[in-house]
Amino acid sequence: MERDIFQRIIDRDIPATIIYEDAQVIAFLDIDPETKGHFLVVPKKYSENLYDIKDEELANLILVARNLALEQVEKLNADGFKLQINNNESAGQSVFRTHVHIIPCYED
Ligand code: 5GP
Repeated sequence: MERDIFQRIIDRDIPATIIYEDAQVIAFLDIDPETKGHFLVVPKKYSENLYDIKDEELANLILVARNLALEQVEKLNADGFKLQINNNESAGQSVFRTHVHIIPCYED
């Protein structure tokens, strides 16, 4: 199976600005950010999206994403954030490997 783009980031075959990594997940800045500091949180174990991710992997993913979001929002002086997961092409998913978008929001 051909490795998807996020697996290639995990394997360090293509560069990304990595902001967090542990045994289960990796987080890095989105290459085409919606707002300043937009980043993605990706489980290292492959799943396509929320249709097939395992419950415990999803629970850990959301917890890590929330904690990173709070940390980054404070660091960036943002006023809030969106947490978004696109599932299937019709919902705007373009990379078919589960990932959470954290999109910092600013009042101005
Ligand atoms: P989706 O539309 O699948 O929910 O989101 C995929 C996201 O991955 C997009 O926001 C896109 O900008 C980001 N992305 C696609 N290719 C790369 C890449 O090579 N590096 C990084 N850092 N982000 C990428």
